[in-house]
Amino acid sequence: MTEAGPAPLHVGQLNLPAPDDFRRAFEGVFARRFYTNHGPLEHEADAALAAYFGVRHAISVVNGTAALMLLLKALGRKGEVITPAFTFPATVQAICWAGLTPVFCDVEPETHNISARLAEPLIGERTVAILGVHVWGRGCDVAPLQALANARGIRLIFDAAHATGCTHMGVRIGGFGDAEMFSFHATKVLNGAEGGCIATNDDELAALLRKTRSFHEMTPGPEGRLHLNAKLSEAQAAMLLLGLERMEEFVADNRRRYETYRERLSGLKGVRFVDHAAGEQSNYQYVVAELDEPAFGMSRDRLLEALQAQNVLARRYFHPGVHRTAPFDRCAAVLPVTDALCERLIQLPTGQAVTDDDVLKVCDLVRNAR
Ligand SMILES: *Cc1c(COP(=O)(O)O)cnc(C)c1O
Repeated sequence: MTEAGPAPLHVGQLNLPAPDDFRRAFEGVFARRFYTNHGPLEHEADAALAAYFGVRHAISVVNGTAALMLLLKALGRKGEVITPAFTFPATVQAICWAGLTPVFCDVEPETHNISARLAEPLIGERTVAILGVHVWGRGCDVAPLQALANARGIRLIFDAAHATGCTHMGVRIGGFGDAEMFSFHATKVLNGAEGGCIATNDDELAALLRKTRSFHEMTPGPEGRLHLNAKLSEAQAAMLLLGLERMEEFVADNRRRYETYRERLSGLKGVRFVDHAAGEQSNYQYVVAELDEPAFGMSRDRLLEALQAQNVLARRYFHPGVHRTAPFDRCAAVLPVTDALCERLIQLPTGQAVTDDDVLKVCDLVRNAR
């Protein structure tokens, strides 16, 4: 602790490799003089990610947003994509960058995810795909969504940016639907200093994405697909590979912090802890609680202010719903559950830099805030 007070406790603290390990990996990049354009570490990352996610193909790219743009573009269709507004804006913006139109679906109050029940009435003649988001790493209820997509002849893809290392129905997330997107942004459990990938078992889709992620495999032809410079650099791949080796440790540490929070806060009146799916593995990267203002005796926003005054940078996540941000706020979507969650959820600090003592301190601050 310094005179300036304790260092701020952030949400989603960085999971970093040991500096010496990174230095060694980076020396190899210099020795090879191979910094980008599909170097050996990118190839290694693709193979390691495919093995980790249990899929035939992982196509690594510069970030999760680019992964989603390329994936949506690769569907090769024009029309509407059904997606939640309870997500990070990148999910929805990627749909627009790919020349498609988002149609917002509300989420289930228990899981915070879209479902077949909520998506079905939104399917119309122009629908080309459903893009589900595995919010907090908790898998969407995939089987009914897949049955619905099959019955209506549309594609099913997932934004799995939160879900690295999580399981659904006992299977590691990565191989569900036609493809799943992952993010290795610094706030995610696996950090590639930016980075992302598309995981898929579809050989054709994978081959197309390996071409369109860069300008290095231009194959002129009548189908003339657009390309993007979305390559993962060797420095990013090095960081990612080192993180992948330590995933078990990162998750175990996250889990310990999560369980302390839950133990200390779940009994508190007006606080409903957002649990992970029973019987599944989670990465425990998201520590989220739902605040019932009358019962808790304080609004979510007042609690946030009280925590921030103590340098605890808890935050509203997601807030506001994407349907309430420009340029999407002119749509007429009525999403009561999304709106309620955006007003009530608070995300608490976790990650490598948050000690067990810090967690206890934050719990005390929450308990004594009123
Ligand atoms: C982080 C995130 C993204 C975007 O990933 P980037 O790698 O930051 O581009 C998309 N969707 C969700 C749900 C995310 O959390």
